[in-house]
Amino acid sequence: MIPVNTPLLKGNEKKYLNECIDSGWISSEGPFVKRFEDDFSKYIGMSHGIAVSNGSAALDIAVRALNLEEGSEVIVPTFTIISPIQSIYNEKLVPVLIDSDPNTWNMHVNQIEPKITAKTKAILIVHIYGLPVDVQPILDLAKKYNLKIIEDAAEMHGQTYNGKKCGSFGDISIFSFYPNKHITTGEGGMVLTNNNELAERCRQLRNLCFIAERRFVHREIGWNYRMTNMQAALGVAQLEQIDYIIERKRYIGHRYQDNLKYIKGLQLPLDSTLYSENIYWVFGMVAESEDLSLTIQKRLNSHKIGTRPFFWCMHEQPVFNSKGLFLGESYPNAERMARNGFYIPSGLGLSDSEIDEVSEHLLKAADCNG
Ligand SMILES: *Cc1c(COP(=O)(O)O)cnc(C)c1O
Repeated sequence: MIPVNTPLLKGNEKKYLNECIDSGWISSEGPFVKRFEDDFSKYIGMSHGIAVSNGSAALDIAVRALNLEEGSEVIVPTFTIISPIQSIYNEKLVPVLIDSDPNTWNMHVNQIEPKITAKTKAILIVHIYGLPVDVQPILDLAKKYNLKIIEDAAEMHGQTYNGKKCGSFGDISIFSFYPNKHITTGEGGMVLTNNNELAERCRQLRNLCFIAERRFVHREIGWNYRMTNMQAALGVAQLEQIDYIIERKRYIGHRYQDNLKYIKGLQLPLDSTLYSENIYWVFGMVAESEDLSLTIQKRLNSHKIGTRPFFWCMHEQPVFNSKGLFLGESYPNAERMARNGFYIPSGLGLSDSEIDEVSEHLLKAADCNG
């Protein structure tokens, strides 16, 4: 079986985990947590890092920390994982959706301004699959309309936009360290900000909002979203390898691009845009029809090659529709990507011969159809 993802844990992971066990520091109080926060926030170029239990938790904290008034509108792409929309919804804020750019698969920046109203208070940008959102026009809008930027960089460890690290553009930004992300802590996430007060508020929200003066007294409800010392130990070891990891992920992407250059009926990911080079978080493709997508995936699966369908649009989620959200809304580019898109194995554990094997089956499957 060639699964869609296999993590690589070949650095100091075991050594640092042993240190946790030998020292007895396994909870969030252990020294690796602070070290990982410092190392990672420095790497991204933000002053504060708040390590949490996962990327979705980081989004909950980021959205709540901004203290937006109930009913405020937050602009967000429809083509994404549910986490950002869930965080917005749970804070009694209103998600306002944007269609995707069919080439980069990221939110279509030209469609944002017409959706800004007096109630709009923030734009939550989500970088998709390895290429960043075109950030500059969004930063300009944020300035013009006085909006906060929340940046979901869960798929963007080490990616840059015009030379500046993704995750450094938000008033508040988040990462995930799930095993399919560029670096992993098993489960884990981080909130990043340059704002001292926001950072302090995030630390509070992460830890049940204990107050400083008297433990077990609370003025606000938070969560237990703490990261353990063992997770952070993995994170420190993984971050040491980030340059190699990005290089390898790009190599995998380029090898697929080369192998699949002449494939028919499938749109491959862009290798670069004016402002970035793809880091291939996943290697996705969009078939010209839903039928072709399913046929190809079936064929790959029958040869023990894993595939995953693309995200499903937020405006077509039964859970939101049943609550009366997004009814009658249509975002044709995102809908097409959701129906016809899928990705193939691209984990760090993938060998060159496996890449070539997957490519061969893909070429055959696409050819049969043509
Ligand atoms: C993975 C991911 C998340 C959620 O992270 P978890 O750690 O799995 O909760 C959020 N946003 C995006 C864009 C992601 O890819």
